[in-house]
Amino acid sequence: MFKQMESNATQRLHFCHDPDTGLRAIIAIHSTVRGPAIGGCRFIPYASDEDAITDALRLARGMSYKAALSGLPHGGAKAVLIQPEEDFDRAALMQSFGRFVDTLGGDYITAMDSGTQISDMDQINQSTPFVTCTSDIGDPSPNTALGVFEGIKASARFKLNRNSLRDLTVSIQGLGHVGYEVARLLHQAGARLIVADIDPQRVQLCEQNFNARSVAAEEIYAADADIFCPCGLGAILNDHTIPQLRVAVVAGSANNQLAEEQHGEQLLARDILYAPDYLINAGGLIFVALQYAKRPATEIRRKVTGIGDALFQLYQEAQQCAKPVHRIANQRAEAIIQAAKFNSAA
Ligand code: NAD
Repeated sequence: MFKQMESNATQRLHFCHDPDTGLRAIIAIHSTVRGPAIGGCRFIPYASDEDAITDALRLARGMSYKAALSGLPHGGAKAVLIQPEEDFDRAALMQSFGRFVDTLGGDYITAMDSGTQISDMDQINQSTPFVTCTSDIGDPSPNTALGVFEGIKASARFKLNRNSLRDLTVSIQGLGHVGYEVARLLHQAGARLIVADIDPQRVQLCEQNFNARSVAAEEIYAADADIFCPCGLGAILNDHTIPQLRVAVVAGSANNQLAEEQHGEQLLARDILYAPDYLINAGGLIFVALQYAKRPATEIRRKVTGIGDALFQLYQEAQQCAKPVHRIANQRAEAIIQAAKFNSAA
């Protein structure tokens, strides 16, 4: 476990077991040097405790990088709640998790993630103030989608020399909270859509509302499009899928899209521009962090729409250094965190 913490440069790993509610939770705090660590809590089944720990560690580092590149005064963390196999009282379990979060005294601020919803955040809020995405703050997904949309526009400007998305084709994998809203924004901007989801109802909605063409879930990688927008699963850019891609750009919301870091090099070798996931999908984090800090809506919108310019600058830097964009993004995020460490030690 310490090896894994070391390779992820994670500061702290906290465990909690509450036999009364069935809560089994892990909180990975990657870093607090830039401020309280913020990051969602997942509530999904895991095949093993090791898988749950690995997920928490990997995702916590991504949150630190996301906060650093977005200029938010936060470090990154992630909580993983292992879904009980037997019956459980959801409200009691969430309140118990809130007590666990509260013991960390504000070093960790929790939020919505896969398998959790606004009503869970309200339950957590009964035990701790260190929670966002409560019903008075709301779902971050529309802001994540807005940031992805701005990122797609910047990517089209950089790679395809296009100032408009009109008549460009975008393939979208996953039409959930984020993917559906990205589809709506792209349709509004005049883009053509090819979509896939394992849920046929989500697909049908996009066909009806956005004139989208659908393909089977496994066919989305080979779809003939200008831009591929993954908004479903992680690790979808891998040895199996990269050779299938027939696009110039990959730009979508899914977390941890590269199965391994070297897959970023594979994309560059195929002359495919990759928008680092933790930068293009930062709109939701910007929204929840600034709402938590009670910042005005105008500031939030300015920062979320600024994701496009931030990406464009990163693309330019990567081109100048002839390096993959994800390496430049990692270097930049690590440098920001190191500088904060240095300043706090001085
Ligand atoms: P969601 O669960 O609402 O939607 C995911 C969609 O993907 C679902 O419709 C699901 O049916 C579909 N899907 C699952 N497996 C698929 C497959 N094999 N092929 C095609 N579709 C498949 O999730 P979301 O909130 O929209 O988030 C989407 C992605 O973006 C996730 O990776 C999430 O971690 C990431 N993300 C979300 C936010 C946010 O604000 N919601 C913020 C940052 C990152």
